[in-house]
Amino acid sequence: MLQQTTVSTVQNKLPTILREFPDFQSFKSKKIDDFLKCWSGLGYYNRAINFYKSVSIINKNFKGILPKDKNELLNLPGIGEYTANAIIAIGYNKRAFPIDVNIKRLISRLINKSVTNLQLSDILKEITFKKRNFRKFAESMMDYSSSICKKSFPQCKDCIFQSYCKSAYQSFNPLLKKNVVSKNINFYLIETKNKVCFIKKPKFQFYKNFIHLPSSLDIELISKYKKNKKELKVSFEYSITKYKFKINVYKIFSKVIIDDLDIVWLKKGEIAQIPIPTLFKKILN
Ligand code: SF4
Repeated sequence: MLQQTTVSTVQNKLPTILREFPDFQSFKSKKIDDFLKCWSGLGYYNRAINFYKSVSIINKNFKGILPKDKNELLNLPGIGEYTANAIIAIGYNKRAFPIDVNIKRLISRLINKSVTNLQLSDILKEITFKKRNFRKFAESMMDYSSSICKKSFPQCKDCIFQSYCKSAYQSFNPLLKKNVVSKNINFYLIETKNKVCFIKKPKFQFYKNFIHLPSSLDIELISKYKKNKKELKVSFEYSITKYKFKINVYKIFSKVIIDDLDIVWLKKGEIAQIPIPTLFKKILN
């Protein structure tokens, strides 16, 4: 959950998710839409979809118990090297090393040399030769590197490694921000008296598995409403990954419902009952 998402966002959301989905068993009686609705607001919805699929496989093939075996973990949707190692080390307290950028930075600075993941894994194996508590080791490495040996301003004077760290007190310039790509897009609130138009196969493809409000990319659909009066409702900026969107939201009132296989009309009262991404909630409010 914390991948690309702030701790405070996850902290706010976690109690709701745990209330609805307290264990693997509880997923059996719920649909993927129930989980997506709970997840709504955390973004990166593919993680939720993979999570749901993985739990379904664990319930079906592993009697509801998270596998300990790395290859079995790697076969689950959305679980890669890092997550598999984190589950083994933190979940099962077994020898494994979840290597993230923070840990890589800490070790590279200690020896003043850049290292590959494989080399890093060998170094960590050597360091932990006599250690037994792999859970604490993994967690402390993560916390220490992100809170003391920070990316831009490492706290060398408070660091327990300062006497032998080969990079101690060096200046580390803040890294350049990743390239931001600016884009303009319009979204359309096409409304009848009591219904709103959503599109099932949108061209705006950031939220897979969700129905969308139509956008200016859905040219065919929008062209059907070109004679209707449109009114600018709101404009705002919204960032998704590296994209910074300048969004204009237009209201279009339609007296008739144009039916199409690709369109779904929802009653205004029904919208709160379905999982939709935060961007569309913002547009609808
Ligand atoms: S001394 Fe400074 S650069 Fe070296 S590990 Fe500690 S915080 Fe990082």
